[in-house]
Amino acid sequence: MQKLRWRWLTALVLATGMVAVTACGDDDDKSSGSSTTAPARTFEAGTTMKKLQDAGTITIGVKFEVPPFGQKNPASGKVEGFDVDLGQAIADELGVKAKFVEALSDNRIPFLKDGTTDVILSTMTITAERDQEIDFSDPYFVAEGRILTKKSDDSIKGIDDLAGKKVCTALGSTYEATLKKQAPKATVRPVDGYSDCLELIQNGSVDAEATDDVILTGQIIQDDSLQLVGDKLTTEPYGAGIKEGDTEFLAFVNEVFATFKSDGRWAKSYEKWVGQYTGEDRDPPEMSLKEALDLST
Ligand code: GLU
Repeated sequence: MQKLRWRWLTALVLATGMVAVTACGDDDDKSSGSSTTAPARTFEAGTTMKKLQDAGTITIGVKFEVPPFGQKNPASGKVEGFDVDLGQAIADELGVKAKFVEALSDNRIPFLKDGTTDVILSTMTITAERDQEIDFSDPYFVAEGRILTKKSDDSIKGIDDLAGKKVCTALGSTYEATLKKQAPKATVRPVDGYSDCLELIQNGSVDAEATDDVILTGQIIQDDSLQLVGDKLTTEPYGAGIKEGDTEFLAFVNEVFATFKSDGRWAKSYEKWVGQYTGEDRDPPEMSLKEALDLST
């Protein structure tokens, strides 16, 4: 069953041109998102929600090359994925247009701090260290750290086999520390975006890639000569990042996410972007922010 789904997916991917994934710099996408409607709610003057309504737009940092969470579809030019659906839900609740910009792993916190984005929804793990600089929403997804290799390479079966090997991950990702700790003898090759890792593993410049299972799954979707190996390395609860100290906006985002989880939109989006391809059912995470933060301390 699983195999059939993967085959079907491969066909779909080829048909929609998802294979031609490239990093897009700081390109943005003005055409994405559904059409805006009149604000359904009113907010107090001075709140971020009111300011965003007055501006008519919310700027959301997502990945552009990480299907199925954030991907700029090369065929349509639209940005799409699970993180994009959540961002659109925030925009819809405010009644504003969602403008999606690319936020690479290493740009996410600077983008919030300098106001480039209002929210980050970019496969970002909630960690205590990051929480010192920005605020996190409640967890909206829980990924797992894994290793990706070529199927033809049987020399890597788990984390211990990474000693002496070249391993790719994204600059500014949690895996820089994870690899240092769990595979201290590996040579880590940090890159800007995960499509760079995909290219390096395909052309043999690195032996493996370490990151979240859902990101690696997106790459297997593009290239079925790749595989996941070994056990789970880490638990990676994803949170939306917002500017430190904006408690009203944080409460608003948490409220949008709680409704998104409870009214069936979470399950629908998960099935659309992940479940239908992997055959795996999942419920929205119940993990609290505190539990997520405690995982990294
Ligand atoms: N979730 C991990 C992180 O936030 C890895 C994925 C990514 O780099 O976006 O660092």
